[in-house]
Amino acid sequence: MSAATVPPSSALLSLRDVHKSFPTGRGRRAGRTVVLDGVDLDVREHACVVLVGASGSGKSTLLRVVDLLEDVDDGQVLLDGVDVADPWVDADAVRARLAMVFQAYNLFPHLSVLDNVTLAPRVVHRRPREEAEAAGRATLDKVGLGHKVGAFPDQLSGGEQQRAAIARALVGGPELLLLDEVTSALDPELVGEVLDLLRTLRDEGTTMLVATHEMDFARQVADEVVFLHDGRVHERGTPAQVLDDPQRERTREFLRRLG
Ligand code: ADP
Ligand code: MG
Repeated sequence: MSAATVPPSSALLSLRDVHKSFPTGRGRRAGRTVVLDGVDLDVREHACVVLVGASGSGKSTLLRVVDLLEDVDDGQVLLDGVDVADPWVDADAVRARLAMVFQAYNLFPHLSVLDNVTLAPRVVHRRPREEAEAAGRATLDKVGLGHKVGAFPDQLSGGEQQRAAIARALVGGPELLLLDEVTSALDPELVGEVLDLLRTLRDEGTTMLVATHEMDFARQVADEVVFLHDGRVHERGTPAQVLDDPQRERTREFLRRLG
């Protein structure tokens, strides 16, 4: 099928001309900072799309818009062709189809790893404890933490805490996993275990939209790399295209700065 005949709904997630600004300053200095200035982006089922761009280029804002943590000023955020940016949409139903993992793991310190992972299934989705715990244990096994179910977050390394946070995101079987710089808060020696897990998820066909500074990781896992600059998708393509043979000066400059 040529690109022109692929219907728009063939992407699981599509952003169409998304605009987002934030108020800045007060009084006479009040204004707005435009962060997303007409972003178009598609994530197909089973694809891994990696967002790159300078700090402040809007990667987190874009992910937060998709996760309905931020309203958009204009444009569409289509999940399976349905505009979830519409204020009338059932936000909880949309969020149940998505899961986001942040830079800071945000585990509840007073809950065991298993309870952290099963909290949403039990409390939000009202699944019986036994069923939620079986799913929680299976998911923790999958991320390599089957032996830590009873541990508390402060008894885990940073890498283990982040893997527990990823388990918590996965336990409900989301259709799309949103990952925001999930290795940025980790000591360098712990980054590898988290990236290995993401690689495994990707190989299993998990649909992912990932913001990262890890260019080697992007090179290995991305089906598509999207470079954000000036509130727009400045350049996009395969990792080989964008990271090894960038066509635009801003992309080259960004990559040079990363060294
Ligand atoms: P990135 O994740 O690429 O570093 P962000 O999406 O975090 O970029 O931020 C993009 C811009 O939006 C930054 O200038 C940031 O200061 C601004 N911004 C993000 N969230 C808010 C907010 N809630 N209020 C005001 N400005 C914000
Ligand atoms: Mg960010």
